[in-house]
Amino acid sequence: MGLSRREFSKLGAMGLAAQMLPSVGVAAQGGERKVGYAVIGLGTIADHFMRGVLASPNSQITGLVSGHRDKAERIAAQYGVPKSSIYSYEDMDKFRDNKAIDAVYVALPNSMHAEYTIRSAKAGKHVLCEKPMSTTVKEAEDMIAACKDAHVQLMIAYRLHYEPLHLKAVKLIKDGALGRVGTINGAFGFDAAPGAWRLNKTLAGGGSVFDVGIYVLNASRYLTGEEPVGFTAVASTIDQDGRFAMVEENVSWTTKFPSGTLATGSSTYGTQMPGYFKVFGPKGWIAMDPAFNYDGMRLRAKFSAGGKGVPDIEIDESNSEKDPAQFTREANHFSECVMTNQRPKSSGEEGLRDMKYIFDIYQAAGVKL
Ligand code: NAD
Repeated sequence: MGLSRREFSKLGAMGLAAQMLPSVGVAAQGGERKVGYAVIGLGTIADHFMRGVLASPNSQITGLVSGHRDKAERIAAQYGVPKSSIYSYEDMDKFRDNKAIDAVYVALPNSMHAEYTIRSAKAGKHVLCEKPMSTTVKEAEDMIAACKDAHVQLMIAYRLHYEPLHLKAVKLIKDGALGRVGTINGAFGFDAAPGAWRLNKTLAGGGSVFDVGIYVLNASRYLTGEEPVGFTAVASTIDQDGRFAMVEENVSWTTKFPSGTLATGSSTYGTQMPGYFKVFGPKGWIAMDPAFNYDGMRLRAKFSAGGKGVPDIEIDESNSEKDPAQFTREANHFSECVMTNQRPKSSGEEGLRDMKYIFDIYQAAGVKL
């Protein structure tokens, strides 16, 4: 569609909307206008996203960018993308003239996020970029500047910002269920296979905090609604099989927030570490376990209801939505932002803050990036 809803209604008032419609590439499925996405990089997370988009009322896949033409043609057939809307990394910039592509979803290894975000913005496309935003703070700043200059929206794909149980945990804390938050514990990691690009510092930017620790770090910020004022951290490598020649195996850190809340997080590429968080306050606790999966979230809590002799409030709730529901919610939000010209909840600035904190954590751990 290439125009915000506001701009579009303005054109309507001028009698121009009807004229624009055929050329602005809005899919008119069931009469609904949809934001068309070109997916850049057709790996694991792109598959989740594309399946999620199928259930979105305001989004659709209209282009693909890949280094593997055969794979792209197979996926294009699946999603009804014309062959003429398949691009290579080299000729991707030509999609500037493809009116069916309003936005891109950048699903490449971390080190490529900045280049493909900036090129997409320069081609006039809105950008939904995977986390971590980039591999350096400077890249993240450049991405924000490029999107601002091109007047396109930039969102970082923090899918849990849109997940109902995470939002419920945030609300419970904000409403004072725990009194105040004293401490938070969380962890997320996995035993990485040798040869994975995540273990290659050039492509990943650094170790597991970039990839999985970021979930724990980001959760500590949205759960408290505060920004860190300092970090302590340690890193270690136990396994000497060669996997950790470029990045560390384990990291643990503690964040201090202005209120005095302390959040301790761990992440790893060397052990099995299912993601969870637990939040403690004088009135009780809230736990999410699993916390960071694609589905199956479970929120438990126990906190005082107030009066003496009144039984504690206990919560045990699971989200029964199945993968790729989180990606549908994420796409819905970004498409809505594109259509209404609003800044996404998980904006580029949000991604930039995490990039700064990731560098703080590694610096505190004595790991040179
Ligand atoms: P992946 O390895 O499955 O896919 C990466 C894609 O990039 C592949 O299609 C590959 O062909 C392409 N590519 C292009 N150049 C490449 C190169 N030089 N080396 C390796 N691949 C190259 O990775 P993924 O798990 O889909 O991760 C992609 C991005 O998504 C990463 O930034 C990651 O942090 C992020 N991610 C986010 C989530 C989430 O839940 N939001 C989950 C997993 C990954």
